[in-house]
Amino acid sequence: MENFSQEKKSSFDRIIGRISEEEAAATWKEAEETFNQQDFEALIAFEKEKTEKELLILSEINEASNAWRRKYGLEDFDIPPQNTHIIKKEVWPYKKSGGYFKPGQQASLIKETSVPLVFAARAFHEMIHFKSYGAIQKTFDENSEREYRTGLSLSPRTKAKQVALKEEIGVPVYFQSLNEALTEECTRQYVQSQAKNLLYSSETEETTKTKEWAKRNNKEALLDENIYYAKKIPETEEIEAEAFAYPNERYTLALLIDDVLEKNPEKFKTRDEVFDVFARAMFTGNMFELAHVMDKTFGKGTLRKIAKYMPKEK
Ligand SMILES: [Zn+2]
Repeated sequence: MENFSQEKKSSFDRIIGRISEEEAAATWKEAEETFNQQDFEALIAFEKEKTEKELLILSEINEASNAWRRKYGLEDFDIPPQNTHIIKKEVWPYKKSGGYFKPGQQASLIKETSVPLVFAARAFHEMIHFKSYGAIQKTFDENSEREYRTGLSLSPRTKAKQVALKEEIGVPVYFQSLNEALTEECTRQYVQSQAKNLLYSSETEETTKTKEWAKRNNKEALLDENIYYAKKIPETEEIEAEAFAYPNERYTLALLIDDVLEKNPEKFKTRDEVFDVFARAMFTGNMFELAHVMDKTFGKGTLRKIAKYMPKEK
């Protein structure tokens, strides 16, 4: 198997597959051009122009997400504002999610919102995908197709295996749940560190007020710590709220971390140290440490089982 890497000019760190050096060079060039050229004709009608505040937020979260890379020994990888596209909410196509990272387009798509903190959370999550380990992989099939690895999530290398995996767990990708849990956990830590950021002061205040009201009125659901933004509309008494995504996946990750910590007291002293093993694998693409810790804690082959884990929806 050939393995190509070069200086980072797009989300991709590697090209994996049976291709010539010329093909690899052309693929790198194409990725770099896509990263730099973000005027997609197909998007123009759907895209919303960014406000000054949104531009400022993008610059702040670019910095904050670089800090995660540095933590795991990686260089900064700056994402210019043009690579985040805000899509008008009326035409947003994904029901379950407020953001989408598209490696093939080197772009994050974010659903329009009037709440800056919600925009920040959505854009941060996609930026973590953008800055996690990225690879272009060719399938082993005859008409070798291009697949992507983003962080931990990866596609099987043949179409037949992808179809079989999709039938088995609902998505044709391994480690989807773990990758999303880790990405949203990074996002949660960012949002919770912003309580004093003036960019978000109005929604922080609104959320505190609304949660106090919820406490007085026994609205338990609103007190869930996953809810990071809540507002009561005065006229209608309706509640507008946003919660951190992938609660089931993050719950499972937390259980895993607790177990690893408990069973390896000589190796790990805190939950954060265990979290780092997972997150380091997502950012650097190096799975050895994670595989070793999993096998040692839970027995050989555990990582394979986790690769296929998809939580049932509540
Ligand atoms: Zn995601």
